[in-house]
Amino acid sequence: MTIKTRFAPSPTGYLHVGGARTALFSWLHAKKNNGTFVLRIEDTDLERSTQESVNAILEGMQWLGLDYDEGPYYQTQRFDRYKEIIQQLLDQGDAYYCYCTKEELESLREQQMANKEKPRYNGKCREQPKDQKELNRVIRFRNPEEGEVVIDDLVKGKIVVANKELDDLIIARTDGTPTYNLTVIVDDMDMGITHVIRGDDHVNNTPRQINILKALGADFPYYAHLPMILGDDGARLSKRHGAVGVMQYRDDGYLPEALLNYLVRLGWSHGDQEIFTQAEMIELFDIGQVNVSASAFNTEKLLWLNHQYIMNAEPELVASHLEWHMQQRGIGAATQGPALVDIVKAQRERSKTLVEMANASTYFYQDFSEYDEKAAKKNFKQGTDEVLQALYDAFVAVTEWQGEVLHKIVLHTAEQLELKLGKVAQPLRVAVCGTGMSPSIDVTLSLLGRDKTLSRLQKAINYIKENKS
Ligand code: GLU
Repeated sequence: MTIKTRFAPSPTGYLHVGGARTALFSWLHAKKNNGTFVLRIEDTDLERSTQESVNAILEGMQWLGLDYDEGPYYQTQRFDRYKEIIQQLLDQGDAYYCYCTKEELESLREQQMANKEKPRYNGKCREQPKDQKELNRVIRFRNPEEGEVVIDDLVKGKIVVANKELDDLIIARTDGTPTYNLTVIVDDMDMGITHVIRGDDHVNNTPRQINILKALGADFPYYAHLPMILGDDGARLSKRHGAVGVMQYRDDGYLPEALLNYLVRLGWSHGDQEIFTQAEMIELFDIGQVNVSASAFNTEKLLWLNHQYIMNAEPELVASHLEWHMQQRGIGAATQGPALVDIVKAQRERSKTLVEMANASTYFYQDFSEYDEKAAKKNFKQGTDEVLQALYDAFVAVTEWQGEVLHKIVLHTAEQLELKLGKVAQPLRVAVCGTGMSPSIDVTLSLLGRDKTLSRLQKAINYIKENKS
């Protein structure tokens, strides 16, 4: 059997972390088994689906690197096929027209609630002959009344639901458009999906979907319902817990590799291993070992993982993501300055996110208009202009602009002026970076280059002189 999985988001919002984890688990299960991974956009709810959301989902998938072998399929392009299946069910007697009005259904519901019964459709139109009235009729699936549905869920284990518990579900609305449960099973059937991996908010739909598949004489897939993701307060993860949209994590400076690694551990583990290369994830992931209980999202842990990836991933990879953040700050390929890969090497120990790294690196490319107030006050004291002048004079004479040479000059200047190293290096740092924080001074200077170093030293000398008077 060739394994085929799918991710089937409804485009009614951005790709959130819960959806991304569902997509990842489906992707991993396909990759692991040399199977096929399908992306299917479930856009039949015309009022709530937007193109903007479709784009956001595609963008999220691409950023995460969850590539699909088939799709994206769009359900709105398959209405004819759904109609065909609905007709087949009608012809077989497995579906029927229902003429009950909203008011009738509402009063039925109220009655059932008053009797403390589970609200469900009572099958009133089941035996009614098909009349000619075309308006205001829905189509319902005739659910079997006897027997039970057994689901061997790969995560939750055996689930048994008595058919008595299920009512006759609407498969086409009054305007003839098909509903979710119908479109899903037609697609899963037509696309040959072998494993349906999805959030457990759908577990109640599964027995209904199996019954429709049975009525069509189709095989049904394996199901794996993933436990939900909780926020740190134990409630279902939502916007009020902070970032839930995948692209927000990009904006906040996370690497997609780190986010994926974080997500794979939400509900799955392999001993106490925390860091997985993509190849390891694919090799070790096992859908059958996913936890039954919900897992909590832990932003601190994600941040820790992100730092691990920033420090240990190939600097070229980190640089490729840093580039986007620099562009947001107006720094592009045409901007004069050091190669981003060298920035990564210089800054990775001190940057937990790419936003931190980008913010702490703009001075390598752009002149700053102001000094950090505290740093200037502390380091630009009277007489410091002379220290900076001595450094300037020595740097001007340098023929080979190289870290070790520059470092020696700083040491030598401190010695000559009989000052502690910090009294020379720190004013120098503030002069060329505008702040008191930067990589080691030799790395900082060599990344900055000769021109920026000299012009900024000159500017600082003037600044100190002006502020004296
Ligand atoms: N479109 C459904 C959703 O976004 C998922 C359907 C499924 O996975 O079966 O919730």
